[in-house]
Amino acid sequence: MKRIGAHVSIAGGVENAPLNATNIGAKAFAMFTRNQRQWQSAPLAASSIDAFRQNCLDAGLLPAHILPHDSYLINLGHPEADKLTKSREAFIIEMKRTEELGLTMLNFHPGSHLNLVGEEQCLRIIAESVNSALEATQGVTAVIENTAGQGSNLGWRFEHLATIIDLIEDKARIGVCLDTCHLFASGYDLRTPEAFDVTLAEFDQIVGLPYLRGMHLNDAKQPLGSKVDRHACIGKGMIGIDAFSYIMRHPKLEEIPLILETPDSDGWAEEIAMLYRLADGQ
Ligand SMILES: [Zn+2]
Ligand SMILES: [Zn+2]
Repeated sequence: MKRIGAHVSIAGGVENAPLNATNIGAKAFAMFTRNQRQWQSAPLAASSIDAFRQNCLDAGLLPAHILPHDSYLINLGHPEADKLTKSREAFIIEMKRTEELGLTMLNFHPGSHLNLVGEEQCLRIIAESVNSALEATQGVTAVIENTAGQGSNLGWRFEHLATIIDLIEDKARIGVCLDTCHLFASGYDLRTPEAFDVTLAEFDQIVGLPYLRGMHLNDAKQPLGSKVDRHACIGKGMIGIDAFSYIMRHPKLEEIPLILETPDSDGWAEEIAMLYRLADGQ
């Protein structure tokens, strides 16, 4: 089965995320584990954790269908020691919150070198950050998201992801989330079934398909290889509906969270329904 969802709000408490997901017909969801614009947040209340778990159970949503996203403030490849420490501490807190919620994956953007260190060194710093977070937690897989290649963000080439994974000690707890807009912006074409399969084969060869734990479904406002991260609604951007129709019917993308991060949250219920129709071959 295809597990289509969206990055839903946690306003009022994390326990609202599974409710927000079912309200739009989602069979998967993403969320932040805390306010993503602040470094500090109160610990999760036991009542909130219990309600979250119960609401997921009631909705029939398993940990493998839920892909929380870390804060955008975190840079696990920060070249400056004090700021790197701050990011690493915040990431470990989010991994622990993920664990407390009974979840098994946390999606993160690899990091940025800020033009202060080289790519190789930055990738090594990122891997060390992930290794220490995995050591400090149990049962949660760190899921690297490919990026659009904007600014000095790393993770836009499959080789970057492979280099990080190579340096991870516990390979059972590292995974990848592919964002379609980021793929397209960073130069990987997916507009036709042939192009999508070439891109997926390249991912399989360089990174390995078994590492794929989820996808973000976003159309792109900018052309192929633009390196600009601007999401568009499904079928309304430069990638186009054929790509998403193919993804919906792709046999290798079953049971992993396929998450919308498209700009119009009011349209998510309709976008999800449309994608399910495509999955049914309609
Ligand atoms: Zn992301
Ligand atoms: Zn994304």
